[in-house]
Amino acid sequence: MQKLLKPRGTQDILPQDQKYRDFIWKIFEKKMVLQGFEKIETPIFERAEVFARPIGENSDIVQKQMFEVSRLGSSKNDNEEKLVLRPDYTAGIIRSYLETGFSGAPQPFKLYYAGPLFRYERPQKGRQRQFTQFGFEVIGDSASATDALTIYTVWDILKSLKILKLCSIEINTVGCELCKPDISEKLQNFFNSFKKMLCGDCKKRINNNNPLRILDCKEKTCQKIASSSPDIIDMVCENCKTHFSETLEFLDELNVSYDLNPKLVRGLDYYTRTTFEVVIKNVKERQSSLAGGGRYDRLAKTLGGKKTSAIGMSFGVERIIEFLKENNIDAPETSKPQVMLIQLGPKARKKTLKLMTELIKKGIKSFIAPGKESLKSQLHLADKKKIRFVLIVGEREVFDKSVIVKDMERNSQESINDGRLINKLKSKIKN
Ligand SMILES: [Zn+2]
Ligand SMILES: [Zn+2]
Repeated sequence: MQKLLKPRGTQDILPQDQKYRDFIWKIFEKKMVLQGFEKIETPIFERAEVFARPIGENSDIVQKQMFEVSRLGSSKNDNEEKLVLRPDYTAGIIRSYLETGFSGAPQPFKLYYAGPLFRYERPQKGRQRQFTQFGFEVIGDSASATDALTIYTVWDILKSLKILKLCSIEINTVGCELCKPDISEKLQNFFNSFKKMLCGDCKKRINNNNPLRILDCKEKTCQKIASSSPDIIDMVCENCKTHFSETLEFLDELNVSYDLNPKLVRGLDYYTRTTFEVVIKNVKERQSSLAGGGRYDRLAKTLGGKKTSAIGMSFGVERIIEFLKENNIDAPETSKPQVMLIQLGPKARKKTLKLMTELIKKGIKSFIAPGKESLKSQLHLADKKKIRFVLIVGEREVFDKSVIVKDMERNSQESINDGRLINKLKSKIKN
């Protein structure tokens, strides 16, 4: 039979890559717990409306990139509610926040999450159809200090990941509910005069009255035109201006380095006020960002809740892993066995099995291959798996109650009595 392959735009996350995920996750989770965040998980699929309303009916994500979920073989029924794989985490979290009544709980409500998202895109470097995000949301708080603390947390995590110096945190404000329509109109007028030169997508953006998106277009001509467009910061209302300058003041106070990018918008309609993105420094072409986020004070309303101030951010896990590897930043080994047990003969097998259970009880990571018979094949396996200590048990070791401990790195070995084995091993592992 023909071998089946994984779908386009997906990846198997193999054992050798797990250490990078663990590395990022441990740092991320620690920072979350230290700041009083609590973990939430929401369904991988939701009603399409959950995303269409806040992200924007005319956005690329909603128009072209959502995977529909339906029962295999079911006939299309237009009245049926459409379900989709989540292309975004935040909208689902706010749906849950409103549905479960957390909006009545003391605020701010601080949540963190981790999981896969799905977008139907052309797969390329740093962009897959299934990808993972680690992120957090602070719901029910409008203070500019919260914006600063959010960006500080991103900065702090990048520092712990040892990639801060290679990255730049770009910040902008995109205005609030009150001034965004005005900004939109001014940009619409500006881009309208260049309409003929814009790419097909951007022409549509003008027709859909969504000129902010043009600032985000990757086409060279569009970027060139956008670079001479009026800066958003000069068009926002006084309240937004104050909120933004306070945010920057707090960041200076916290010694967080950032770069202002007056053209930064993010590809989702729900953002208001502070937006930010973590990009790689000194690259010719702008690549997909490692992390990003912003304030979204209007989102809850689009999902039928009352106006709720909130801000959040997320890390693109695969993108960061790729970046760590490109820069030869290694993640600590977490799952490698410390000890391998080698048995020679049936009596020895019995003894090594018993020994294995004792080792794992004492927290020593152990590996055994009971199906292998010869010393050579078992040593070969230990070598392949880069296991440092090998415990060899033959008929003789069964008889005189001992074990041969071989240090594969130092190429030395000694015979140790059963009674002293565990303590001896523990001190060897430490050195
Ligand atoms: Zn405003
Ligand atoms: Zn364009």
